[in-house]
Amino acid sequence: MSNHPNLRADLALRDGYHSPQVDVSVRLNTNESPYAPPAGFTEALARSIGDLGLNRYPDRQAVLLRSAIASLDGVQPDQVVCANGSNEVLQAILLAFAGPSATVVVAEPTYALHSHIASLLGCAIVHLQRRADFTIEVDAMIKEVNASNAALAFVCSPNNPTGTLEPLESIQRLATETNAMIVVDEAYGQFAPRSVLDLDPAILERVIVVRTFSKTWALAGVRLGYAISAPSVISGISQGLLPYHLSSLTQAAGLAALETAAAMEIRIEAIVEGREEVAAGLGDLPVEQWPSAANFILFRPIERSADEIWQQLVDKGVLVRNCAGWPGLENCLRVTIGTPEENAKFLDELGAALT
Ligand SMILES: *Cc1c(COP(=O)(O)O)cnc(C)c1O
Repeated sequence: MSNHPNLRADLALRDGYHSPQVDVSVRLNTNESPYAPPAGFTEALARSIGDLGLNRYPDRQAVLLRSAIASLDGVQPDQVVCANGSNEVLQAILLAFAGPSATVVVAEPTYALHSHIASLLGCAIVHLQRRADFTIEVDAMIKEVNASNAALAFVCSPNNPTGTLEPLESIQRLATETNAMIVVDEAYGQFAPRSVLDLDPAILERVIVVRTFSKTWALAGVRLGYAISAPSVISGISQGLLPYHLSSLTQAAGLAALETAAAMEIRIEAIVEGREEVAAGLGDLPVEQWPSAANFILFRPIERSADEIWQQLVDKGVLVRNCAGWPGLENCLRVTIGTPEENAKFLDELGAALT
């Protein structure tokens, strides 16, 4: 497809962000939950819909939803702001704390949307490289943030697509040894043994934690994400959002989901168990893999082409993410943890493709 002649010249040059949506039975490519939301969710949502008063604009402050999230995560309601997916949260953060011509620092390979949204907004981006084990070189990042007088730095932990959990000390140091806002993307935080929220809350004056209902909460289709930070930071982020941005339906869906928190905990445990099983299975195959604290694992076939293995898996009805063309991830694939049956099918077909 050719670009429209009036399109911004700096957009015409690049591809959008997308993962191919191939129609197969085992979809392990976008880190979604393999399970539908628990039965109680649909019932709670159905019950609330009649009372939403959809002729009126939604609660602009999303008071009930923010309070429920705050009590789940052990903070105050004025420390929470919600938006349509954490991608919109990230955009609001960038609008409020960076903006055109500000500098933003990312550590590659990482979640492409951080730099993608930043460059859409006209930010200058510094791409640092992670170590071979995919942890961040914190000294180098601090140095770069200070040298470029960056407005904002992203730390994705656990990191997508590598699964790497960053030591809390790294985040502490970035927040105290630079003047930038540090955005910690914890889209996979509930699968990990620790969170930035375990640190002294004073750190939230400079750290913004971003979370989503798309992964753990099995609600990628709802589009709901949120940020946790200090109240002054949260009111700053709100200035990057449109009025009435979060529909009454979305707010109701979030509240209904939070009623199922106990069921969600059980599922998280099951997925973490599944992750250990898949890691063990990969350990028996000729692949290199990296330790993951998320609901996916990055791996690299040894002496075989990842493109070919990816296609062979698709032919057998298993879709994983092909990262082979991404800088720093040569010949790598990423598999999302699915149900026990999906995990077993993946390991069987991968084993067959590799032999
Ligand atoms: C999946 C993902 C998100 C989620 O985005 P939503 O807009 O909430 O669906 C955010 N950050 C990372 C690193 C992710 O992998």
